[in-house]
Amino acid sequence: MKISKKADVIQPSLTRQLFNMAQNFEDVIDLTLGDPDIAPSDIIKKAACDAILDGKTRYSANAGLIQLRNAISKHVLQEYNIVADPNSEILVTVGGMEALYLTLSSIIDEGDEIIVHAPYYVNYVQMIKMCGGKPVIINTDDKNGFSLTSDIVKQKITNRTIGIIINNPCNPTGEVLNEKTLDELAEIVKENNLIVISDEVYSSLIYDGQKHHSIITREGMKEHTVLIDSVSKRFAMTGYRIGYAIAPSILITNMTKMQENIAACAPLPSQYAGIAAYTLCNKDNSLKNIFQKRRDYIYNAINNISGLNCRKPSATFYLFVNIEKTGLSSFSFAKKLLETKHVAVAPGITYGEKYDNYIRIAYTLNIEKLREAVKRIEEFMDILKH
Ligand code: PLP
Repeated sequence: MKISKKADVIQPSLTRQLFNMAQNFEDVIDLTLGDPDIAPSDIIKKAACDAILDGKTRYSANAGLIQLRNAISKHVLQEYNIVADPNSEILVTVGGMEALYLTLSSIIDEGDEIIVHAPYYVNYVQMIKMCGGKPVIINTDDKNGFSLTSDIVKQKITNRTIGIIINNPCNPTGEVLNEKTLDELAEIVKENNLIVISDEVYSSLIYDGQKHHSIITREGMKEHTVLIDSVSKRFAMTGYRIGYAIAPSILITNMTKMQENIAACAPLPSQYAGIAAYTLCNKDNSLKNIFQKRRDYIYNAINNISGLNCRKPSATFYLFVNIEKTGLSSFSFAKKLLETKHVAVAPGITYGEKYDNYIRIAYTLNIEKLREAVKRIEEFMDILKH
């Protein structure tokens, strides 16, 4: 059968490969995917069940239920002081992923360049290619806290550049872009008339009392920004598949046309669950508190293992761990660790070719399981030394 070049070029990510391999081991501790072990609040579950029982299971408007768009609009105003018109500037999507895809497919023409900072969420690069664009990578460095500087962004801009994806907070590093960087990036974006796609799906998981700041709130940036967020990480609703994009109305109109031809709309029971989440569960900090405790535990425990080290992530539920001292590639490390100790982690090379001396650990399991994982990783490191 004929397969398109576009499809052929796309590879399943190594994170998924490790996840699939992990399913072969009964006592595996799986730290690959960013999928919390915690169930959403009963209020959210009930809203989804009620929708099904009440027959609210048909199609909605392509842009999503207006009640959900209203709830999102209120949420972003209260939390981040972002003004978004529910009738023209918000699109409800099938997870943040579909919001990303609809954005990229609505702005990219063949050969257009999109700047991406690495280490990156692998789907950015794949999706840009799926849309016929060219990802232009900026590698950030552990020594500088994986920070993105405006000077490097400037150097990467060509006459084919149409936009930049920023992931704030960042998967896999857990870093948060500081306000000065956001200000400088905003100036570059405006000067060069670019679009910034600001992926903020971890905005609710920022620790140590730090606040989230979105580039969309910078002066004049609403016209240049697509803000992407979802219920997945904020309310532990990964499988509900509800996300959204906030963007200028011209772009939302075009993305909504795309939506009609791709998914029609996000699943309706999940949209009702989303309304309950944003209206009734918004002030609940319990997930953040759980992940901060896990972060504190695993960050200290991993740094206490000789041969491994990592920065303390300010946000998300990932640890990006340097494995350079083992002399192994990230895939060999992950494969050997899985085969000998039944602990699954994601190889760093998934997040950019410069990161083959890292692994990513998702601390999405409870502390007891994390303790067992740490014990096994320590034993594995001892085996490597002998
Ligand atoms: N963006 C980033 C950086 C992610 O890590 C993820 C999921 O892991 C997503 C977007 C997509 O999330 P969802 O489609 O579940 O909203």
